[in-house]
Amino acid sequence: MKAITIKEFGGPEVMTYGDRDQPTPGATEALVKIEAAGINYIDTYQRTGLYPIPLPATLGLEGAGVVEAIGKDVTMFAVGDRVAYTSALGAYADYAAVDQSKLVAIPEGVSTQQAAASMLQGCTAHYLSHSTYKLAKGETCVIHAGAGGVGLLLTQIAKNIGAHVITTVSTEAKAELSRGAGADEVILYTEQDFEAEVKRLTDGAGVHVVYDSVGLSTFEKSLNCLRRFGMMVLYGNASGPVTQFNPATLGPRGSLFLTRPTLFDYTAARADLEWRAGDFMSWVRDGKVKLRMEHNYPLAEAQEAHRALEGRKTTGKVLLIP
Ligand code: NDP
Repeated sequence: MKAITIKEFGGPEVMTYGDRDQPTPGATEALVKIEAAGINYIDTYQRTGLYPIPLPATLGLEGAGVVEAIGKDVTMFAVGDRVAYTSALGAYADYAAVDQSKLVAIPEGVSTQQAAASMLQGCTAHYLSHSTYKLAKGETCVIHAGAGGVGLLLTQIAKNIGAHVITTVSTEAKAELSRGAGADEVILYTEQDFEAEVKRLTDGAGVHVVYDSVGLSTFEKSLNCLRRFGMMVLYGNASGPVTQFNPATLGPRGSLFLTRPTLFDYTAARADLEWRAGDFMSWVRDGKVKLRMEHNYPLAEAQEAHRALEGRKTTGKVLLIP
């Protein structure tokens, strides 16, 4: 089968397209014929070694397709089932062997590509808004990178809850998309001081929660956007990781809360995975959340796809199609 493999950490050029042995499913695994693999920012962290993985490796933490074979102890799925998954490495390939505990059934009315686009960013937007900081109607949040994969989904979910949403984006074209997703206010953080803008927009009060996936370049100012007892949710490092921080500074800023959550923990229990994926895919099916999927690349062009994502050229979901 064809797959994208890395043998060393580095830039997009370390990803090579070529033949690799088709995996054989273990006792509790299903062999999934991948019809669409999701590209996510975390793939770039694994590629560069920021988040180290054993090498050689096939990248890709999200996929959807059809079960082609099952191991002897698989009870939850059968050959022919349409399934999607996240949090198992190896989706940039024609086939992946995935433990049944990570698979979810794709509901009627949701396409395989939509399912691939739902699992990682959709479940992330779900846990951020429903668990890490449970947004309530009338509360105000800041969502950084509002036109990105997670950003567009989180904005729609926050608006469906009835929250007031302030987003940040780098270009006017992205601002349009963010407004289209429902953002009440959009700040061009490449041109404006977003901290000053958030204070102005909230009459100095600050917001209940900041969802910050940008990291290094936004972290300190994001803390200053929060109201008393506000929560800083640092969930990514698109501009680089935050490595220096003094927790004592949370006190004078208003007894703030700081958390660094991961999707892995919020979907570790099977019930949580089913809840989040089930909710999210039903919203997609019912049109309550719209997926933006205008960046599909052939599997062989994974390098170009990574360059576009890291170059801030993409909006919404990026998919690889084997
Ligand atoms: P995005 O589509 O959001 O792409 C990243 C965006 O970050 C860019 O489009 C860009 O938007 C913005 N950005 C700001 N500064 C930079 C920079 N210096 N270089 C590149 N991009 C920059 O990606 P995803 O939706 O896949 O992921 C978003 C973030 O969420 C990532 O940091 C990812 O790691 C994190 N994440 C965390 C999870 C968790 O459980 N902790 C799970 C899923 C995602 P703009 O041009 O508007 O600034």
